[in-house]
Amino acid sequence: MTCGVCGATAAAPAPLTWSTARGPEGRSVCCPSCTRAHVRAMEAKLDEAHW
Ligand SMILES: [Zn+2]
Repeated sequence: MTCGVCGATAAAPAPLTWSTARGPEGRSVCCPSCTRAHVRAMEAKLDEAHW
């Protein structure tokens, strides 16, 4: 599997430190470093969407 953000690779199944997400284009995975940044971005968006 390959990180959809930076292109890092890992053997499947993904370690727990990797996150998976379902989107309109299918399943995507993020490596730990990208997940941290991505989660913050998602939380920021959610805050805007909910409030
Ligand atoms: Zn990455």
